[in-house]
Parts: sequence; structure tokens; C-alpha cells
Amino acid sequence: MAIDTPLRRLFDYLPPALPEGAEPPGPGMRVRVPFGRRRLIGIVIEVSDTSELPAERLKPILEVLDPGPALDGATLGLVRWAADYYHHPIGQTLSSALPKALRLGAGLTATEERWAVSAAGGEAHAAGEPRRAAKQRALLDFVVERGGAASAESLSGHSANWREAARALAARGFLVRAEIELTRSAQPARLRAAGPELLPEQRDAVEQVAAASGAFAAFLLEGVTGSGKTEVYLRLAEEALARGRTVLVLVPEIGLTPQLVGRFRERFDAPLAVLHSALTDQERLAAWRAAWSGTARIVLGTRSAVFAPLPGLGLIVVDEEHDASFKQHEGALRYSARDLAVVRAHLAGVPVLLGSATPSLETLHNAAAGRYTRLRLLRRPGESRPPRLALIDLRVNAIDAGVSTPAVLAIERHLAAEGQVLVFLNRRGYAPTLLCTACGWIAPCGECDARLTVHLGAARLRCHHCGADAPLPARCPQCGFAVKPVGQGTERIEAALAMRFPGFSIARLDRDVVRRRGDLDEVVRRMSSGEARILVGTQMVTKGHDFPNVTLVVVLNADQGLFSADFRAPERLAQTIVQVAGRAGRGSKPGEVLIQTEFPQHPLLMSLLEHGYDGFAAAALAERQQASWPPFSRLAALRASGQTRESALGFLSEARAAARSLPRGLRLLGPVPAAMAKRAGRYHAQLLVESRERPPLHQFLDGWLPGVEASRSAQRVRWALDVDPLELF
Ligand code: ADP
Ligand code: ZN
Ligand code: ZN
Repeated sequence: MAIDTPLRRLFDYLPPALPEGAEPPGPGMRVRVPFGRRRLIGIVIEVSDTSELPAERLKPILEVLDPGPALDGATLGLVRWAADYYHHPIGQTLSSALPKALRLGAGLTATEERWAVSAAGGEAHAAGEPRRAAKQRALLDFVVERGGAASAESLSGHSANWREAARALAARGFLVRAEIELTRSAQPARLRAAGPELLPEQRDAVEQVAAASGAFAAFLLEGVTGSGKTEVYLRLAEEALARGRTVLVLVPEIGLTPQLVGRFRERFDAPLAVLHSALTDQERLAAWRAAWSGTARIVLGTRSAVFAPLPGLGLIVVDEEHDASFKQHEGALRYSARDLAVVRAHLAGVPVLLGSATPSLETLHNAAAGRYTRLRLLRRPGESRPPRLALIDLRVNAIDAGVSTPAVLAIERHLAAEGQVLVFLNRRGYAPTLLCTACGWIAPCGECDARLTVHLGAARLRCHHCGADAPLPARCPQCGFAVKPVGQGTERIEAALAMRFPGFSIARLDRDVVRRRGDLDEVVRRMSSGEARILVGTQMVTKGHDFPNVTLVVVLNADQGLFSADFRAPERLAQTIVQVAGRAGRGSKPGEVLIQTEFPQHPLLMSLLEHGYDGFAAAALAERQQASWPPFSRLAALRASGQTRESALGFLSEARAAARSLPRGLRLLGPVPAAMAKRAGRYHAQLLVESRERPPLHQFLDGWLPGVEASRSAQRVRWALDVDPLELF
């Protein structure tokens, strides 16, 4: 039995008292069990004839919650795999896989409360009863008029306090209450509209993946934005649906746009469930139930949807597989949904398709090693051509408010030619620093090793790491002299461009602008209609939205990613540049991309410019191999945070000492404080475990973690293990 506790083990229980001939609960079923003084919901993992505990100490299961398993064998298998691989307690791993409402006891199937007229009620109604209770009479009328039964929902529409009257009628024997299980018949998926004729490369991709159906095979579908990847997903989904199978499509957090959902809905007349982090518990439960019951033929979701139950799964698609949001790097279970998708496909014996314009180096390495089949879409449908990339050397060009003279001239030129312009800067707010010009004071965050960002419009100082928020001071709190914002954020760039290009409407896209549903649609509408001619934005502009009239993209600062302590920073930079560049020239006009940098000779930028993402990836992989970083080694990070620097480092030192004998090829690096040691008032540090091979790493972790957990200092810190960490800090 798996129970949601931090304990790394299963628990044994006796079967419940069962009626004659009833089957004991099997794997995947939810049961209620006594646990200490509490009663908890657990999931049966295995049924066994024996236990290590003596029989008299075993307690029986109190209650079986459902008639069948909540998790089918395949989903349960995936959860068990994840618990093993990420070295996370099985009970907590299961918790991550189930919607909260189910963990709290909600039913597996949707039910509807209905009130029906009894035979006696029918006769009474015909006789004009009950005469003296007007409300009861009206309610009985209402139900009879609806054919003799009405749902609680429609009764609420009848009157606000209908329940009182309904109960009185039930007491007289005129009405009967029932919970009706809602079973929607799983209707076959139908094609609403046929897609366009495929280009040869698309057809080839579809044929190769379709030929693999019915067995595990992994594919990388590589193609720039607009090259027709989504069309390939749609065709493969069509093929799987036609075989009566279901389809799971995983997308990055920010990529689950109404546009993508819309394309699936336009194409298929089939129930579709959407799972993402912004759902309420009830919405999530409804979507999960639709998937579980097989009603939904397509499940589209972000990270955690990889655990969605899908009877008859036939195909898994991971769009934008390189995206960092597939990695859960906080909280309890830290997992990669992309990697789990491949494992799931393996367990289910179905093909998995990883799509990206800029595949992760891990995936490219897997393709090079022959584990994944590489499929490429090199041509964009229609006449759009790939954009021209050029660097602007910031050391020799005048720069005003973050924008260099050549960039300003280019913007002018493209605006004059009726084009739209996209200006990219990965920093929101007005300015990243507030400085006193007299004494040198810089507005610091009290809770983090970080500066506060100036938000001029809102007149606030905000920390982008912990959310601290304070009024914008007019004067230096230290010496009383004037303060000034230093550096650029999207808000400031927008203001500067508005000054320079009066008469052109400017839109901005970042998390400060997009706060509610609908905000994004408004920005997209202004750009699509051509009302806005310039769009200033952060990472958010790189995903999903198609602005075919954008002919110029300016990347204001490429340098943040060039000299980071994190070995993955260059990869992320190259991906961002290529993704942003992909926004240019998607219509019939050719695009131009300008990248501002102080390091135009940087080998990485040069390989990217001269040989494209492919060339960059080859160079970066060679560098990784030399330094023996993943994918040429395996990493796990033990992370800790505490009230003091000493507590975090102390715990990790103790953990290091607990590792007595290290297997060959395995190294411990650290502990070291995180690059930003203080965050949200806590001190962060990490200890890295590096191994040449995967198996010894996991063997080591299995032996090591129980000791780490039991160490004295483990109680004083928050700690977590991150296997295959994506970010190192
Ligand atoms: P991606 O997912 O790689 O960004 P899409 O599949 O969205 O690319 O395709 C980009 C655009 O090209 C879409 O408007 C799509 O409808 C269109 N398209 C895709 N494939 C074809 C094709 N074979 N013929 C005509 N148009 C196509
Ligand atoms: Zn001062
Ligand atoms: Zn802070």
C-alpha cells in the first residue's frame, strides 16, 4: 500500500471484511486505512500472501473507495518508475500523479444528484397535492413538468432554497433522491476537416512514425517554427484516433495557447481534455475523469499531464521538448515530464514524438547515438524564407536607452516598409537597478542576494526572486539625494521607443502585462490586426503566437547567457535567439534579425551565426564532452536551504561525510552556496553527485539517501534531491 507520507516504503494491510465472493482490492485501487491515529487514503500497489510484520500487528483496510482501480497498470507502472528513478517516496510520488480532489476522496466518476417523482408522488400531484404547502407544490410541479426527474443543478434554478421543499416532499414519499453516474458513451473520434496536403518531408515524418505504431519508438521531429510540426502531430493523432487509440500531447507551460487547443478542436470532432496548472481543483478533477474514463480521446496538457490515465494510449507527442518548463524543479517530486513521456511510451509500447526547432543537447545526443530517430522539416510551407541574422557590436556603436543606432535605423526602415518589429529583452520592469548618484546606494532586496527592480508605471520596487514589493522612493533612504533607475527593462524600452517613434502604436508582452486570461489575447489582437507596429517583450514572445507581418527582430542583449556558472546557459541562449528569430519573416516577406552584443567574437555566437543551431549544438556538445558534463555524465543535486548559511552547508557536509565509499567514476562536488545564496530569506546550497554512468549513480543514491535522511541536521533544513537537474545554482 502506498500512503502519502515522506517514508520511503510501502505499508502492509489486511484485506477488508468482504461480502461473500467479493474480490479483495487490487493494484491501483483507492482504500481508506488506519494510519497512526489518522485515517488516510492509500493506493494498493501489490497484493501479497505474506508480510514481514507478524499477523497480529497488521490492521485491516477500513474501506474500499471505488469499484475499480483509480490508476491502471500502465500509469501505476510509470509512477513506480518515477519514484525509483527520482528517489522519491512512492506515496508522495503517487500524490503528484493524482488530482487533489481524488486524494481527498472525491469519486472517480462524475455523478449527478437527481430528484425523481415516485409513483405516490405522481398520484398526489394529479390530485392537486400537497395543497397547503405552496413551495412544495411548486417544486413538485417543476419536477413533473420536466418528465418526472430533475438534476440538483436545474432545481437550483427553480428556487434558491429548493432543498427544504425537496426534503419535505421526500419525507412524504413523493420525491426520491438519487446519485446518477454520468457515463458518456465513448463516441468514436471523427475528423471535422481534412488537413492540407503534406509536403514531402512532412509525409515522410508521418509515415515513419505511423509505421512504428503498436511498439515503442522515439522520434525527434526537428523543424523551425512554422515548418509544419503541428500539422505532423495532427496527422499522427488522426492516425491513432482512427485505430481507436487515445493521444497524449504535452506542451510547455507557456505554450498551451488557445491557438494550439483550437487547432486540435478544429481538426477533430472528439472529446478533448485540457490539463494545466491554472485549473481549479474541480476543473482538474473533471478533466482527469474524462481522461480516466476514456471519454476524452485526446489529452492536451502541461508537465503533470504525463501522469494522466489514458486507456488505449496510442501516441505521445511532446511539443517544444527543449523547454525548461517540462522540468519540475521545485517542491516534492522533481521530474522531467519530457523524460517521463519517453519512459511512458516505452512502458505502453507506443511511439513518442519529441518536437522542437531547437532540440535540447540531450535529445540531439540520443538521436546521434541512434536511440531516437531524427526527422527534419527543413522547408517552411508557403514561401516564407529563413531570416538573415547579424550581430551589432555594442563596443563600437552608439547606444541610447538600450537600443543601438544601427538597430534604430533598421526599425525605421522596416516600419517605413509596412513591416512590424519585435524587440526582445529578457527582463521585465523599467530598470533592474535603482541607484543613488550621491552615495552609491542600490535598492537591495532584504530577503535575497538581489537588487530590486524598478516598476515605474506601478511606482513600485519589486524583487523578481521572492516577490517583495515596496513603494518607489523619491529620494535615497541613506543620504536623501535623488535616485535614478539604471539599466533597461521592457517597460523602459517601450517608453523609449514610444518617444523615438511617435505615431506608431507599441505593444508590450511580459508577465506584468499579462496578468489575467484575456490580457494575452488583447496583445495578440493588437499585433495581428496591425494596430500595433512594434512589440516589446520577454521570453513570452517566443512561444506560440504567429505574427506573419513581423519582418524585423531585435535581440537587445545576448550577453547574459554567455558567461554563466551554469553549463547549460549557452544552450538556453542559443535556443532563445533561434526561437525569437523564428518570429521574423513568417509571412511572405523575408525577415531580418539583429543581435546586440559586446562579444561579437564569442565562439558560440559565431558558430550560431555561421552554422545555425545545428552548428552551435555540435560545438556545444563537443565542449560538454570535454568537460564531461551531461549528456556525457549523469548528475544529481542534493539541495538544501536553511535559516542560516551554516545550517544549509552543515547539512550538506554531513551528507557528504555519510558517503563513505564512492563507486568508481563517481564524484561529489561541493557543498557550495548557491550563486544567489540568499533567496526569500533562506540560504541555499547544493552538493553535486556526478557519475560517468547511470547505474552506479542510482545504486549510490539508494544506499546513501537513507543515511542523509536520518542525519541529525536533516531536521533543521529543507532538502530535496534533484536527479538530472536542469539548472545549477
Ligand atoms: P510549427 O508547428 O512547426 O510551427 P505548423 O504546423 O503550425 O508549424 O505550420 C505552420 C503553418 O503552415 C500553419 O499555418 C499550418 O496550417 C501551415 N501548414 C503546415 N503544413 C502545411 C502544408 N503541408 N501545406 C500548407 N500549409 C501547411
Ligand atoms: Zn544616497
Ligand atoms: Zn527578494
